[in-house]
Amino acid sequence: MSITPHGSMRSHAGGELRAEHADETVTIAGWVDTRRDHGGVAFLDLRDRSGIVQVVADPESSDALEAAHRVRSEWVIRVTGTVRTRPEGMRNPNLGTGDIEVAATSIEVLSEAATPPFPVEDRIEVSEELRLTHRYVDLRRPRMGEILKLRSAATSAIRRVMDANGFLDVETPILTRATPEGARDFLVPSRLQPGESYALPQSPQLFKQLLMVAGVERYYQIARCFRDENLRADRQPEFTQLDIELSFGDQEDVIGLVEELLASVWRETLGVQVEAPFPRLTYAEAMERFGSDKPDLRIDGLELAHLDEVFADTEVGVFKGVLGDGGSVVALALPSGGDMTRRAFDELVEWAKRRGAKGLAWGVVEEDGTLRSPLSKFMSEAEIAGVIATTGASAGDAIFFGAGPRTFARDLMGALRNHLAAERDLIGEGFAFCWVVDAPMFEPVEDRGEAVGSTAWTPVHHPFTAPTPEWIDRFEEAPGEALSNAYDVVCNGYELGGGSIRIHDREVQERVFRFLGISDEDAQERFGFLLRGLAHGAPPHGGIALGVDRIVMLLADATNIRDVIAFPKTQSGACLLTDAPAGYEPQALADVGLRLAPKPVKD
Ligand code: ASP
Repeated sequence: MSITPHGSMRSHAGGELRAEHADETVTIAGWVDTRRDHGGVAFLDLRDRSGIVQVVADPESSDALEAAHRVRSEWVIRVTGTVRTRPEGMRNPNLGTGDIEVAATSIEVLSEAATPPFPVEDRIEVSEELRLTHRYVDLRRPRMGEILKLRSAATSAIRRVMDANGFLDVETPILTRATPEGARDFLVPSRLQPGESYALPQSPQLFKQLLMVAGVERYYQIARCFRDENLRADRQPEFTQLDIELSFGDQEDVIGLVEELLASVWRETLGVQVEAPFPRLTYAEAMERFGSDKPDLRIDGLELAHLDEVFADTEVGVFKGVLGDGGSVVALALPSGGDMTRRAFDELVEWAKRRGAKGLAWGVVEEDGTLRSPLSKFMSEAEIAGVIATTGASAGDAIFFGAGPRTFARDLMGALRNHLAAERDLIGEGFAFCWVVDAPMFEPVEDRGEAVGSTAWTPVHHPFTAPTPEWIDRFEEAPGEALSNAYDVVCNGYELGGGSIRIHDREVQERVFRFLGISDEDAQERFGFLLRGLAHGAPPHGGIALGVDRIVMLLADATNIRDVIAFPKTQSGACLLTDAPAGYEPQALADVGLRLAPKPVKD
């Protein structure tokens, strides 16, 4: 990405100088990357956003040489000089500017710099803590600069597609009311309305729906969202989502738009051609085959096998107990897994235990069709044959068995699929997109851990998601089976985004609230504005939100979400650069009616 215009203090971006500029007098500016001072002549590598260029100072310009002796790493300087081609043999093919150098006639120091906390280069061995504390230096490193450019290229591609499809970019409030997306709210107590508090939006969900009621028809926003959750490697308390909503369309409109959008982002940033339409799986199928609602389809095969029928009358103690309690036995065959050492199997058992499993049984299929396994003496021949047939394993393959409560066993084996694929290098190259559709409306609170209302059920997506037409009139009768008009887009095992067709009928919305245990009074208090909006002519509508940070992580091949955000927070929600969150003056707190609990004493 070129830097044009360069700003009035320079004539060119140094990193963009080439042999065609030879003999031109140029003025460039940037940071001193490295300095090689040979006394009579000094070489400075000057870095700006566009790259690095070599500056030479020699006794012909004694002022420039004197300045070159004085400057240090990361000082900001402005250089005027002549571009000259480097002699043959002195060229550097690894540098865009490697054919030329700038012979300085003047070097002006614009800003001195303290000794950098770490070298500005990609291969550094310093803690992330130090990098985040001095993020302004960290972001000068080439890799970090590339990620910032990639992110900007991605959002600009997004805007082009949204514009071309007639979407309006509308901003929604940051100081607002709770929007339930299954996390805790960040609260901002009000000074002007003592005793009351704003919430930061977990998403613009309700505003975008009201924009549909308002007749905007097609809305998008690259929106900051806030969720107070326990953080993991791919989560941040504030993150960016591409938020989309459209009226008078259905699931196919949203899916078609998102496929066009992602294909164009991948093409414009990486030059990669993404095949659309993406494969679609139902939620039930994804769970059954891959033990995950975000399956990594780069992994060829490695599908789960369900063995409840095979072991229906088993004498294998653990399986019998689990099946008797309504649980299930799920297996996974690993091609050629028989080459694993005993120790490798033991490590997998430990891995499963760390995930809360009681253990992980395993076996290896022998040439003669028997199973070498600590469990095989308890299995009947018919069971062994059933296991081999259901898993599709052949001689030399390993088979793993996960047993436990239904969801637990399935999730465990889904995670094992990813774990084994990574360990055994079975993850294919490139990007594997898919849609997961027909998710259930509700799931037991105990599986999700967050309730929206007071019943044992909670929405899988959010409470504004429409049931599929066949469930609209009767989702209350079989809440565990009712399907929703929701869809998730997945890439390489990451959920890139999710959305749904919404409830646009006020009565259906009220029934969903009631079913979730939100009383009419409570619904009025929390969502009265939505219900009122729905009563004023709501068009059928639906939408989706895509995680921009996650998209950039995939594009940049980053494994850490902090690497794709300019100023991220740590796992404990701290900004090391600014030292936020911070204590406040008692008076400032008193103004908003707050007294903070004392800091816990660390031992
Ligand atoms: N508001 C939803 C979310 O943030 C996305 C959507 O339903 O459009 O997950």
